[in-house]
Amino acid sequence: AKARGRDRSELFDDRMRAEATRLLDLEADLRRAILKDAFEPAFQPIVRLQDGSVVGHEALLRWNHESRGVLAPGEFIGVGEDSGLIEQVDWLLYSRVCGWMARHGEGYVSINVSPRHLRSDDFAERLLRMLDDAGADPRRLRIEITEVALLDDAPRALRLFNILREHGVLVLLDDFGTGFSALSYLHRFPIHALKIDRSFVSGLDGEMHAESLALVRAILALAGTLGIDAIGEGIETARQREILLELGCAYGQGYLYGRPVPEPAAPGKPAPA
Ligand code: C2E
Ligand code: CA
Ligand code: CA
Ligand code: CA
Repeated sequence: AKARGRDRSELFDDRMRAEATRLLDLEADLRRAILKDAFEPAFQPIVRLQDGSVVGHEALLRWNHESRGVLAPGEFIGVGEDSGLIEQVDWLLYSRVCGWMARHGEGYVSINVSPRHLRSDDFAERLLRMLDDAGADPRRLRIEITEVALLDDAPRALRLFNILREHGVLVLLDDFGTGFSALSYLHRFPIHALKIDRSFVSGLDGEMHAESLALVRAILALAGTLGIDAIGEGIETARQREILLELGCAYGQGYLYGRPVPEPAAPGKPAPA
């Protein structure tokens, strides 16, 4: 039994070593990719649920990996966050997004901002400078942040949002309902819209129907009271869209309307739904 125990722990050590090596390789890959600027945005339409017209896009990070093809953030965001490299990756991506905005004249674009950025002193200034350099209108940019980011250093985040808002950059609260969701935060920060997390939206026509319905209804009531827009995330079925509309959700996003793609259709036109 003793020998077997040792075998097992050796096996465990091997696995740990293999995983550590994989993560180190990934980090080294990520560093190389930063030098090569191997990132690009994929744009997913955000629509008005009433008529399906495209009002803007969310820019989602994609890594053109030299051997593994196009990677979505799930494959590398953990390593990016832990190593701090995500900040550099984000800036490369934001620069691409600004260039795209300058070339495409309509609709808004929302970018995902990691909590790390809110800890930096010059995030807002740097973002505004980047927009200006690219010739992109800041009033067409929105930033998506999660509730965790607000908890971190509230006064700093508030200052940052205020600078951005003075220039027309609006703040969206991402993955709403999954995090900490202290209502006082909604009230305290200049939040333009909240994005109802996909887990609740997909629950609307699934097994968790009753629970999801109650939650989404509560979120929308809250948003309505505070005068905050709501965007339903991850809409995949006509039924989910219908329920969201009935509950008073004005905007949405999801595979029903379009997957993230490098060159999306222009805003204004209805997305194929
Ligand atoms: P998120 O901000 O919640 O983005 C929505 C995710 O849901 C995206 O995954 C999108 O492709 C996916 N999605 C959209 N509609 C549907 C749908 O109808 N069904 C399903 N199953 N999925 C849908 P993606 O692109 O893999 O991004 C994952 C996460 O990575 C994002 O979640 C965001 O937290 C993070 N992320 C994305 N882009 C960036 C970025 O530029 N910077 C940083 N720091 N994080 C990013
Ligand atoms: Ca997002
Ligand atoms: Ca989200
Ligand atoms: Ca998410």
